[in-house]
Formats: sequence, structure tokens, C-alpha cells
Amino acid sequence: MIEVRGLGKAYGRQMALRDLSFQVAPGEVYALLGPNGAGKTTTLRILATLVRPSKGEARVAGFDVTREALEVRRRLGLVNGGMRVYDRLTGREVLSFFAGFYGLEGRAFREALDWVVGLLRMEETLERRVMEMSTGMRQKVVIARAILHRPPVLLLDEATAGLDVFARRALLDFVKAYRDLGHAIVYSTHVMSEAEEVADRVGFLHGGRLVYEGTKAEALALGGGSLERAFVQVVQEAA
Ligand code: ATP
Repeated sequence: MIEVRGLGKAYGRQMALRDLSFQVAPGEVYALLGPNGAGKTTTLRILATLVRPSKGEARVAGFDVTREALEVRRRLGLVNGGMRVYDRLTGREVLSFFAGFYGLEGRAFREALDWVVGLLRMEETLERRVMEMSTGMRQKVVIARAILHRPPVLLLDEATAGLDVFARRALLDFVKAYRDLGHAIVYSTHVMSEAEEVADRVGFLHGGRLVYEGTKAEALALGGGSLERAFVQVVQEAA
């Protein structure tokens, strides 16, 4: 569902990504792990067609992110930590507004809304204005907005940033439920415990390079039961 081959990105002289390759299958959570500045956000922005790669190629559901950006956008949802939503609108109004972009109107919108509200358990956000929501409620609206069109690919970039324990739990449970619907998910984070919970496979990014890739079980075995130990070990060896 996601294919990245030989991806490189330069910002001026700064190489943010070097020769990055990985794949994500339907029904799989791929955790992209790396310290600040490793290139996680750049990778997701390229997949979401927001940044053009300098080298290599990336495909989403078979479509090229550079040449077929519109087809790619129809098939993915992107969630960042700290995404903004219009303060004065209610949850329902926000979703209705974005549904228009996806061509969901009338009955199609009502069905999409029922589906997303059930999946995220966000009934209480529908009639409440965003400015009156907790951070966790707001994040549910952000996620709902990203998946209203039921994209087969979901990209989450530090999506639990700023969430309390309950909201974080709801998000991690949602990630697993969305994966279980057969969708492909890239979960970018520097929080190892989150990856340990949701990932099927992991990739360690360091200095724009993929320095390790394996199943979660393989990575855990490498770190003697700890993803964090595996990560530190691999990154130190790479450095
Ligand atoms: P973080 O966890 O801090 O978000 P990250 O792994 O997501 O880090 P990126 O944001 O992809 O990393 O950044 C990778 C490198 O590219 C960093 O050195 C960063 O400074 C640089 N970079 C990112 N965006 C730009 C930009 N628009 N212009 C110049 N350099 C950039």
C-alpha cells in the first residue's frame, strides 16, 4: 500500500533524507522511530504530497506522490500532533466542512459521520464548539477529519503530543482498530512505548537514513525485550 524507494530530500545543503526505502502492507502498522531531526516528518510530508522528494520515488496505493498527487490525496489521511481546527465551529460543522472536500454530501456524509463517531467514540464533540473542547476531544475531531473518506493509508506524525493518558489510550486503541480494518498505517514517534504497543514492524531513522528495519518481535529480541535498548544500540553503532 506504501512503497518508498531510494528516497532523498535536500533542504539546501541539509540532507534530511538519504536513500530511504520501506514498504507498508494493508493491515499493518509501521512505526517510524527516530530522534528529533531524524527525518520522520519529512518522510510523511513527502508521502502526503506536501513536499517534493529530491530523489527516489514513493507510491501510495500504487499512485506516485509526485506525478499523481491528487489520486494519492484521495487515499490517505494525515494527522499531526497539534493540528489546528477552526475554533468557532462545532465538531459536526468542522466535519461537514471537510466532507465537502471529499465529495461526501447528504446521505454519504451522514453515513461517514455515523461511522467515524462510532469508531472514535466522539459523540460529545458534535454539538460542542472547538474552543470549548479538551485537547483530547479536539484531537478526535482532527483524526475524524483525516479519515472521513476512509482512506486505506493513514499517516500519524507525533499524534499523541500533548494528550493526557486517557486521550492517548483512545488514540492508540483507535490506531489498532483502524489497522484491523485492513488499512496501512505509518506511525511516527520518538516515544518507544507507543511503538512497542501498536507497531507490527519498526524502522529506525537516524540522520535521514533507515539504520534498522524489522518486525517488532525481531527488534524486541535485539534489545533484550526493550525497543528503546534496540534503538540506542543500533543508533550508536550507526554513529
Ligand atoms: P522531529 O521529531 O523534531 O519533528 P523529524 O524526525 O520529524 O524530527 P524532520 O522534521 O523531517 O525530522 O527534519 C529532518 C531534517 O531536515 C532536520 O535537520 C531539519 O532541520 C531539516 N528540515 C526539515 N524541514 C526543513 C525545511 N523546511 N527547511 C530546511 N530544513 C528543514
